[in-house]
Amino acid sequence: MKVLNNIEKRKVEQTIFAKYNINKHSYEMVEKKLKKTVAIIGGGAAAMMLACSLDRSKFTVSMYEKNRTLGRKFLVAGDGGFNLTHSENMNQFLGRYRNAAFIKPFLNHFTNTQLIEWLAEIGIETFVGSSKRVYPIKGIKPIQVLKAIEKKIAENEVTVFYKHEWTGWKGDDLLFIHDGLTKVIKPDITVFALGGASWKVTGSDGRWIDLFAHKGIATVPFSPSNCAFKVDWKPEFIKDHHGNALKNAAFRCDDKTQKGEAIITHFGIEGSGVYPLSENIRKQLTAHQKAILYVDFKLEHTENELVDILKNEPKLSIKDVLLKRIKLSKTQFELIKNYTTKEEYHSPQFIANCIKHFPVHIVGLGDIDAAISTTGGIALTAVTSNLACKNIANTYFMGEMLDWDAPTGGYLLQACFSMGKYLASHLNEDES
Ligand SMILES: Cc1cc2nc3c(=O)[nH]c(=O)nc-3n(C[C@H](O)[C@H](O)[C@H](O)COP(=O)(O)OP(=O)(O)OC[C@H]3O[C@@H](n4cnc5c(N)ncnc54)[C@H](O)[C@@H]3O)c2cc1C
Repeated sequence: MKVLNNIEKRKVEQTIFAKYNINKHSYEMVEKKLKKTVAIIGGGAAAMMLACSLDRSKFTVSMYEKNRTLGRKFLVAGDGGFNLTHSENMNQFLGRYRNAAFIKPFLNHFTNTQLIEWLAEIGIETFVGSSKRVYPIKGIKPIQVLKAIEKKIAENEVTVFYKHEWTGWKGDDLLFIHDGLTKVIKPDITVFALGGASWKVTGSDGRWIDLFAHKGIATVPFSPSNCAFKVDWKPEFIKDHHGNALKNAAFRCDDKTQKGEAIITHFGIEGSGVYPLSENIRKQLTAHQKAILYVDFKLEHTENELVDILKNEPKLSIKDVLLKRIKLSKTQFELIKNYTTKEEYHSPQFIANCIKHFPVHIVGLGDIDAAISTTGGIALTAVTSNLACKNIANTYFMGEMLDWDAPTGGYLLQACFSMGKYLASHLNEDES
């Protein structure tokens, strides 16, 4: 079929108007009736990208968000380091995801580079930080990023219904509560993008999970990810060291290692160095009710080098060798001091091993509501590779509500944006 340009389209329209003696308004009314209706439920990152990208000549699109505004979690993510995506190459990028095979087609369809270009098109310039994470340039606040996306949504003629909470189905129709009243809608296509189950104050509360379970859709219980991990620190250690960071370290759980830093808190440990190990820690906790995290305090030295340094400073106390020669921080030193016996403390081999593989015993996960993201939600077995629900026709899922996982640092938002873009292309093409 020949695709008409705008001038050709207008000529065809004028011919039709003249032939049937109708005006442009009534023509538009008919056209609107002929278009399929899409209801996007939820107003977060994934939903906003879909709303920006659906073809308005093919669809009449409505968004239903239970809050008074869109993108509340998006704004929270922007508070203190807004990692919109990460700049590493796609191979490394994909390696960060649990269920990478599921995520791959979406990321390949709309990559980090394409997201950066898209943001620039809507007026949001970005820069790559020293951590290779991608941020809006200095001076651009998270709310400005949200406003730029909302402008694009409005330009795409999407109607946004605020304070509309989806509460289930009546037959095949969708039920919403709005201002205490029940509203029923029957779109041609429904897309759920309801987010995860942390930071409930943003609206992403996961309360919907039972609605889908009762409909026979496979779900997985929510679990915190990118969260704090509980450690029962010795009181004599934690009283002076809570709030201190373990910097320039490497953290390992099973065979996964992450360089970075982590903060020691009264509750336990958290930070960019341990978030990517969430899955491994969670697995060990599930199997053994405890998990072991090994910390390498001195990346620049091998264990043998450390043994040599410890053995070759007979005039210095062990404390001085550790603090002045090996340059451990006070917190690292106190960890070693508090968690070794007198005999172990005087063994160069033992202490060198401790510096390279300090064991932190994790006994639990942090509060789900304080987690940056959650796993669980709609099981991946419940959807096709096009994000379509296997149980309900013309229904799709996307974003954090599906059971995938990634570390924070831009990977979460990128996957949500990529799913939105992918689904838009799929639906746009389907209607060609
Ligand atoms: C503190 C914090 C910091 C973060 N930092 C980063 C970061 O720097 N980089 C990064 O990549 N990611 C970050 N994230 C994660 C990222 O924000 C989320 O993964 C992402 O926003 C998820 O997008 P989504 O579209 O799936 O859902 P959400 O953005 O959670 O949106 C879901 C929407 O659905 C609405 N909703 C829920 N139920 C209903 C219902 N029944 N009816 C109607 N509407 C409903 C909610 O109100 C919400 O607006 C951070 C998260 C937090 C909490």
